[in-house]
Amino acid sequence: MPEGSGSGRALILFGPPGSGKGTQARLIRECLGVPHISTGDMLRERMQAGDPLGMVIKRLLDEGELVTDELVNQMVEERISKPDCRKGFILDGYPRTLSQAGTICRQLADRGTGWLVVHLKVDYNEIIRRLADRRSCAQCAAVYNLASHPPKVAGVCDRCGNRLSIRDDDRESVVRKRLEAYDERTRPLLEFFSGGVGSFCEMNGAGDAPALIARRICEMMRSGKSGCSLACSN
Ligand code: AMP
Repeated sequence: MPEGSGSGRALILFGPPGSGKGTQARLIRECLGVPHISTGDMLRERMQAGDPLGMVIKRLLDEGELVTDELVNQMVEERISKPDCRKGFILDGYPRTLSQAGTICRQLADRGTGWLVVHLKVDYNEIIRRLADRRSCAQCAAVYNLASHPPKVAGVCDRCGNRLSIRDDDRESVVRKRLEAYDERTRPLLEFFSGGVGSFCEMNGAGDAPALIARRICEMMRSGKSGCSLACSN
């Protein structure tokens, strides 16, 4: 078995950009005590190197396009083989294509790790509103929302004091492209995951408070059940 293997359980947070995957992952990480793996955060960190690969990543992100399967598959494979992933982990923003889904499902099956996929459903108009209000800290990756979770001091990160900014890809024109990429390349995974491969659940990502949604997901992860009959709401 590869390093980092163990029984554990993986949580795959699935949904369009702005559906709350990152917020949920940060809340659930606290209650389950397992790492949060965001391919978006890893790519943003990688692009800061400013080398040729970093520049290619930056161009793709700025245009709202997906990075190659090969690159993200490799990043995730390396990350989940670390010892802190033995008890499980949370995937946020991965997989995003059928090829990525096939790759991660094979890896999880090989290491004997079960998984739960939670689809966070949110209306696209709500997503465009949410992302226009999102502010991020490039230093520590903290995320705020001007309407629902503003920083204590306008424009300044509560955690590290860095200036907050709007992510280049949260501009409305780029958000629309990211939603198109989601519709074309990522949404088809719903059929793959709901077709009986592992556990699958759909939740309304806009109705309830984020903390309540996170609590339901944690209960499902702890109980080991798919939870669809007991905790999912639409
Ligand atoms: P996110 O922070 O998850 O919204 O991701 C930001 C951007 O990173 C996306 O719009 C893609 O350009 C890229 N990205 C993140 N995860 C993936 C992935 N699994 N496959 C391909 N590109 C990705």
